[in-house]
Amino acid sequence: MKTFSIAIHGGAGTILPALMTPQKELAYRTALNEAIRLGSNILEKGGSSLDAVEAAVVSLEDFPLFNAGKGAVFTHKGTHEMDASIMSGLNLNAGAVSGVSKVKNPISLARLVMEKSGHVYLSGQEAEIFASNNGLPIESDNYFYTDERYKQWQDVKDSDTYQLDHTDKSEQGEKKFGTVGAVALDLHGNLAAATSTGGMTNKKFGRVGDTPIIGAGTYANNHTCAISCTGHGEYFIRAVVAYDISCLMEYKGLSLKQACDFVVKEKLVKMGGEGGLIAIDKIGNIELPFNSDGMYRAWQHSGEAIQTAIYK
Ligand code: ASP
Repeated sequence: MKTFSIAIHGGAGTILPALMTPQKELAYRTALNEAIRLGSNILEKGGSSLDAVEAAVVSLEDFPLFNAGKGAVFTHKGTHEMDASIMSGLNLNAGAVSGVSKVKNPISLARLVMEKSGHVYLSGQEAEIFASNNGLPIESDNYFYTDERYKQWQDVKDSDTYQLDHTDKSEQGEKKFGTVGAVALDLHGNLAAATSTGGMTNKKFGRVGDTPIIGAGTYANNHTCAISCTGHGEYFIRAVVAYDISCLMEYKGLSLKQACDFVVKEKLVKMGGEGGLIAIDKIGNIELPFNSDGMYRAWQHSGEAIQTAIYK
């Protein structure tokens, strides 16, 4: 029997029960459930994994507690600069955008880049012109604003530090990477991955993390797996995390679990790269490894209930 699988994340980091209120936890779990449900509805009807991951990520972008779309973090200049990418495992087609501040759903722009631009990666204002020329919803700064993100920025804006979504000024403080992502295997055997982020609070100089970089933050290949990452982007870029997992499977014959555990729990840890990822292989196995305290995550196999988890 043909089956589908889907997994999503809403970021990894210092996510501890002691730092959470019951109301907030419920809000997070509700948002994760809703995003999975939207993706699964598409997969159940025979829809594509690309449609499913885009729909799930749009729903997470629209939810203000995650650092993507509405609720994206502030840059040093007090603006929002969002990054996103999407990839099809069927044909290795990919689309990515970085530094967009007006597009309501950056993941839909990444999809548009993949399908209509003739390119893989567009950035900044020109990418936004491409978005509005193609009818994607555009929003004002107010739409992306949330009090919580504004406060996080106020805490560090006069310093040289940049924060991973939510970090106390002290190194020991709470760290949370609120990037969102989805991976899916559809009934036709096609894999897809999508990732979207506001990046890091107080980021400067047009800083771009791993999220829009194909092979670093996002990768999908029908022969191996689909991956979406969250964490300290500089390390994920240097470790080429998503592609590395696919390569370990393709060239060394590792299982999804072996490849994920090696990259997230050994390689990244040795480098000092905090974070995690979600992964699905070509037969629907799901892995959700992270080397931080927690990761907002949810997953579902066809015919089974939706599962959500936050802590270790
Ligand atoms: N990986 C993202 C970045 O470095 C941050 C995150 O995962 O929240 O931009």
